[in-house]
Amino acid sequence: MEATFDADYVIVGSGFGGSVSALRLSEKGYRVLVLEKGTRFAASDFPKSNWNVKRWLWLPSAGCRGIFKMTFLPHVTALSGVGVGGGSLVYANTLPVPGDDFFAAPSWGSLADWKRELLPHYATARKMLGATKVPFTTLPDEVLREVAKDIGRETSWSSTDVAVFFGEPGVTVPDPFFGGAGPERAGCTSCGGCMIGCRHGAKNTLDKNYLWLAEKLGAKVEADTEVTWVRPRAGGGFDVTARTGRSLLPFLRKTRTIAAKSVVFAGGVLGTVELLLKLKERPDGLPGISDRLGDLVRTNSEVLMGVVTERRDVDLSAGIAIGSILKTDDHSHLEPVRYPAGSGFFRPLAMPHAPGDTVGTRLLNAGGMFVKRPWATLKAAFVPDWAKYTMILLYMRTSEGTLRMKLGRGLHTLFRRGLTTGTGSGPQAKAWVPEATELARRIEKKLDGYTESLATETLLGIPTTAHILGGCCMGGSAANGVIDEGHRVFGYEGLYVIDGSAISANPGVNPSLTITALAERAMSRIPSR
Ligand SMILES: Cc1cc2nc3c(=O)[nH]c(=O)nc-3n(C[C@H](O)[C@H](O)[C@H](O)COP(=O)(O)OP(=O)(O)OC[C@H]3O[C@@H](n4cnc5c(N)ncnc54)[C@H](O)[C@@H]3O)c2cc1C
Ligand code: SF4
Repeated sequence: MEATFDADYVIVGSGFGGSVSALRLSEKGYRVLVLEKGTRFAASDFPKSNWNVKRWLWLPSAGCRGIFKMTFLPHVTALSGVGVGGGSLVYANTLPVPGDDFFAAPSWGSLADWKRELLPHYATARKMLGATKVPFTTLPDEVLREVAKDIGRETSWSSTDVAVFFGEPGVTVPDPFFGGAGPERAGCTSCGGCMIGCRHGAKNTLDKNYLWLAEKLGAKVEADTEVTWVRPRAGGGFDVTARTGRSLLPFLRKTRTIAAKSVVFAGGVLGTVELLLKLKERPDGLPGISDRLGDLVRTNSEVLMGVVTERRDVDLSAGIAIGSILKTDDHSHLEPVRYPAGSGFFRPLAMPHAPGDTVGTRLLNAGGMFVKRPWATLKAAFVPDWAKYTMILLYMRTSEGTLRMKLGRGLHTLFRRGLTTGTGSGPQAKAWVPEATELARRIEKKLDGYTESLATETLLGIPTTAHILGGCCMGGSAANGVIDEGHRVFGYEGLYVIDGSAISANPGVNPSLTITALAERAMSRIPSR
């Protein structure tokens, strides 16, 4: 009976999937409670550089409750966002629509006419997120455009569509997006800080659009509250157990159980898949979830590199996080990325970009780079301001290789039972791709630069991704999917998965707009209360 529920919908996580769900369900008259394990931030809470790890990193056991989380897994290093607004707080604002291959991919193409159905939802998502073309270019964008010309693909270069308010730099105005119903905003100052949190109120993070409007309609958003258990409730609905507080010791945080009629899992791949894997293991959880849980985890097969310039007459850190995109071939894209001046956290983690299938070859290649270019190696290692003089390259490729997420123990879980990975099907993503290296070498020449990768890539050969997807994929039945094409969990009426873990093919480009459009579609099918 309705009166016995504390909320009609409890939403686990406040990223793209969670925020869309919160607004649309509130509009439909439901009582919505969003539980978010990260913190709620004001613009002034964000750090000035990523050296301020306490404010930037998410490592709660060490007292760091920032927005950026690194998860080290055996087959991939996954980067993600935490806090009220989820990945929108830390992301680079870029909102591309994937190519046709994505919509027709065999992994989900038979479940719906995705392109036709999603197009109106992409339009809504773009409007809600305030997607707009970057109105200027900076040196890295021009370098990328030159590379496009060199490889005969100038028409495949464009400025990015981004979720940023480009008013008068630094000038605050009343809500420019929702006819006055949203918060006041200030124009982008091109400070380059989008990935450490926008201190200027110019980035269209979810707390400034979907969540803002949802809260105005009565949705409750509780920060610092982690959902730890969900189980069916006698008589219908679900008991959701959550731990609230910021204490370093989890057992000192307050635990409570909320009665929900329905639950939307929207914790992102790392949050949702790990929680559901734990719930599936135990009879007092959700043991009936499909055995496909954790399968078909994809990345954009990204290769992340940094080209450190020897020039000192340039500032590569000014601009927005990603200002342009180049489609380098039918399946691949390259974007220049930046951190703001002074943000050198990744410098000590960087090593020469040295492709190779074994650690021996990679170390030999790295050594070879030192022998061939000793001064350049040293100059890159001791560059005075890594962010100011580094053009980060994000190469993405559509590929059908997948991983499997499961629970296990290892050094990366500090030998506690936690999220781990195994290989799935298809060619596995690598930390290097010859085409990406070739593009980086071209950029090196244009910038008098030196190409680096993260040590986890050069030493361990483990690729890095900011776009982890899948793990709760769609299928026609529980035999081949965790959810149906309406995001409903097979076997449990009232449970939904609406976040990156529901993405059931490789978009090959930054995925947040697609997650938002899919969430809009899922919500459009839920009737009003
Ligand atoms: C540095 C960086 C740059 C990026 N740049 C771009 C870009 O330019 N364009 C783009 O499209 N994408 C980008 N991404 C990727 C993008 O951020 C993610 O794809 C997107 O945020 C995923 O959305 P989601 O709905 O799956 O969940 P998320 O946005 O990841 O949100 C999930 C939320 O759930 C919370 N949560 C998890 N578990 C629990 C729990 N048990 N209880 C309570 N709360 C929980 C988390 O704290 C988090 O806030 C970037 C990512 C990173 C890390
Ligand atoms: S460049 Fe600076 S002001 Fe502009 S959106 Fe990014 S962080 Fe905000």
